[in-house]
Amino acid sequence: MSQNVYQFIDLQRVDPPKKSLNVRKIEFVEIYEGFSASQSQAQADRCLACGNPYCEWRCPVHNYIPNWLKLINEGKILEAVELSHQTNSLPEVCGRVCPQDRLCEGSCTLNAEFGAVTIGSIERYITDEAFKMGWRPNLSNVEKTGLRVAIIGAGPAGLACADVLVRNGVTPVVFDRHPEIGGLLTFGIPAFKLDKEVLVHRRHVFSEMGVEFRLNTEVGKTVQLADLLAEFAAVFVGAGTYQSMRAGLENEDADGVYDALPFLIANTKHIMQHQQTDDAPYVDMKNKRVVVLGGGDTAMDCVRTSIRQGATEVTCAYRRDEANMPGSKREVKNAKEEGAQFQFNVQPLSIEINNVGHVTGVKMVRTELGEPDAKGRRSPVIIEGSEFVLPADAVVMAFGFKPHAMPWLAEHGVDFDDRGRIIAPESKGYQTSNAKIFAGGDAVRGSDLVVTAISEGRKAAEGILDYLEA
Ligand code: FAD
Ligand code: SF4
Repeated sequence: MSQNVYQFIDLQRVDPPKKSLNVRKIEFVEIYEGFSASQSQAQADRCLACGNPYCEWRCPVHNYIPNWLKLINEGKILEAVELSHQTNSLPEVCGRVCPQDRLCEGSCTLNAEFGAVTIGSIERYITDEAFKMGWRPNLSNVEKTGLRVAIIGAGPAGLACADVLVRNGVTPVVFDRHPEIGGLLTFGIPAFKLDKEVLVHRRHVFSEMGVEFRLNTEVGKTVQLADLLAEFAAVFVGAGTYQSMRAGLENEDADGVYDALPFLIANTKHIMQHQQTDDAPYVDMKNKRVVVLGGGDTAMDCVRTSIRQGATEVTCAYRRDEANMPGSKREVKNAKEEGAQFQFNVQPLSIEINNVGHVTGVKMVRTELGEPDAKGRRSPVIIEGSEFVLPADAVVMAFGFKPHAMPWLAEHGVDFDDRGRIIAPESKGYQTSNAKIFAGGDAVRGSDLVVTAISEGRKAAEGILDYLEA
């Protein structure tokens, strides 16, 4: 198909259709349908093939976006999937969960006036279709070096590191304490954003490529780092950030108050029929009034999980206004469509409890945005006398995460910064203060995004290859 230079005017941006609200409110299934071949071709044809593509520049892995859009416009799925995998180890995941409105699509030349090209949906389409056609990465020309690297954590950082290593003849052996690969892709991000089969399929693909997985294996408990250092040529740590942040509210440990991540992990394990663990017991919000505190992607995931579990009322309470919410605008819109209520410009003061110590509500106070600080950011200021109680049978705290302690790393000479993050500078190929240990993803940069974890895992693999002279 030849490109129509006026396609961006002739054809509006169209997103893939969503499932009906009746389904979305009760089922843990992806809400977006995939694009058809004709929709992908037509939407890809809207791209202007900019000489200096901002979309590509803004993408943390610098995907060759206009090039694969052109290939899709020409119907060349197999060429597009090869190109897409040159920069990204999990493009079908990024196509589903990246906040494109803040990254590639937000920077698309067409965004302001005509509507950005639907980059994310086409990215997903490419790999989904290629897999359906039986495509697999071709490693037949790769010469094996005989070297083996241990990877701690099967999240996007660890998987991306494994992908680059195996393509360069080094055998990665990936250790994870969970029963399935993916890290937060499987056990954090709910199935209505990312179907759990996507990672199961990726595990098969990676295994066929030569990546070995040792699941249900926790480093520091089931196996020791000293043994990995003795057995492997190098070690990569992509262990994420798992300490939930709290607000220090009165009664925040009361019965009926939950941390976001254990709530989401347990729900996913429940759906996938994996065994529950003591640190993440299953919580059912059926027939409860739920208040979620926080305004990021995790908060939105908790809101939408509670709705699907059958909560009678779900309210998200956030301290700034809607325009200043940190998460993806797309997910806020989806939560509203599914029936979530929002309280903006409010700050929690304490958890209200009854005489048996169970939560009955959250005492809140209204805020307004103060004068801009030196960076132009306006902080919320309390409005005196505006206190009120938001009734609740369950409260979910979604204030974000900070790095958890990893004494098993510190014991081997790995340094951490004052915020608990592993020090592994990009300029040193993500090598830590122990020359044999590399690190990347949330454990190094603090909790962030799937695509930044992938970017760091890939770059760390390059650092490891340099170190091994492989
Ligand atoms: P993780 O994904 O956390 O993976 C770390 C892995 O290491 C885990 O599997 C863990 O089990 C394993 N591990 C840790 N310690 C050990 C040990 N000692 N032994 C063995 N295994 C170990 N980002 C987006 O871009 N889009 C989104 O929509 C989005 N939604 C999110 C929703 C939620 C609820 C959360 C919590 C995060 C979300 N994020 C999102 C952020 C994104 O998921 C993370 O930034 C990303 O997964 C970080 O990747 P990682 O590989 O560094 O760590
Ligand atoms: Fe195409 Fe938009 Fe990227 Fe330009 S910025 S190359 S129009 S996707």
